[in-house]
Amino acid sequence: MSAHRAERAFRAVHGAPCEGVWAAPGRVNLIGEYTDFNDGFVMPFALPRQTWVAARARTDGRLRLHSASAGRAAELDVRELAPGRVPGWAAYPAGVAWALRAAGYGITGADLHVESTVPAGAGLSSSAALEVATALALDGLFGPGPAADALPVLARLAQRAENAFVGVPCGAMDQIASACCTDGHVLHLDTRDLTRRQIPFDPAAHGLTLLVVDTRVAHAVGDGGYARRRAGCESAARALGVRALRDVPYAQLSAALEELAGTGGAGEWPALVRHVVTENRRVGEVAALLGAGDARAAGPLLSAGHASLRDDFAVSCPELDLVVASALGAGALGARMTGAGFGGSAVVLAEEAAAGAVRAAVTGAFAEAGHREPRVFAAAPSAGARRVA
Ligand code: ADP
Ligand code: MG
Repeated sequence: MSAHRAERAFRAVHGAPCEGVWAAPGRVNLIGEYTDFNDGFVMPFALPRQTWVAARARTDGRLRLHSASAGRAAELDVRELAPGRVPGWAAYPAGVAWALRAAGYGITGADLHVESTVPAGAGLSSSAALEVATALALDGLFGPGPAADALPVLARLAQRAENAFVGVPCGAMDQIASACCTDGHVLHLDTRDLTRRQIPFDPAAHGLTLLVVDTRVAHAVGDGGYARRRAGCESAARALGVRALRDVPYAQLSAALEELAGTGGAGEWPALVRHVVTENRRVGEVAALLGAGDARAAGPLLSAGHASLRDDFAVSCPELDLVVASALGAGALGARMTGAGFGGSAVVLAEEAAAGAVRAAVTGAFAEAGHREPRVFAAAPSAGARRVA
């Protein structure tokens, strides 16, 4: 898969050469789950798997969308785009065109062709990859030219497309990660003010491997589970008198839990608070360890993060728990679910020499349990979104 292939496919589908090709990666969050809507910290890295958008400007208002995996979408008119009106996958790129137009871009129509190696619906943010690649393409075709802060701005517009146009209430992490991650780094992101810090992490240089395990269990965040936890976190923050749970320091966790008990705080609040407060601390600890070149020591923090998501936040599932248990049983240094949970993917940190055994153990455990065979691939922190042709 390459930019060249996207160029060729564009010509075959749209009958003329494209003006350029833009790529944006999927992402894995190394640590910092369900912290983003609590104004907390996350630490994603870009996958080598990416989405390519080949594009050409039009002047007649038409938006013609084609995807190698999803086929051709009904033709749209950029002047008539409105939230909730575009069905199916076309809502993602159309939503980006809508968000960019609302931000002042003079988009007069476009032909797009999409190629991707990011598995869709696996919790690896194929949606953000598609949005961010589209945003870069439309910026390339209709934007003001190179600007220093273009990537985070385009990421925010992509997030707006997913929130307001597609109707998925996601935080900013996925789009910022796809847009702003850099090769050989994890991204330490403060989701309150979007302050970013690139932390060098080259697993191979340490004799380590990061494995991504796609359980192939469909994650469904739209079923109310996400919204209920988000509302619970916000209510707990109000009860504690803080703007967001990020403002509860780790040292005051016990006091905060007591205070919630005193208010008769609704059943699941203490567990939600405990997860968010300890998870923010784990992000800080992992950042310090990677910064000090001590990546191995981050392993147990990943596993502790999984236990917290499983037991306190209750967003894991049997398949994700099995990945973690079987990977650790085969000698992995750490493992956790990544993304929204209820299926989707897990990330595993292992010695390079043990990666084969870990992979075999996970696959074997899935076969024994009668689950579908998981997709397992190694993934070093890779480049973020950029123009590739
Ligand atoms: P995730 O972001 O975890 O992969 P989502 O449910 O958020 O899962 O997004 C997946 C959806 O994004 C797909 O169902 C599809 O509508 C759209 N999508 C992603 N990649 C592509 C692609 N290459 N072509 C067409 N649609 C895509
Ligand atoms: Mg998504």
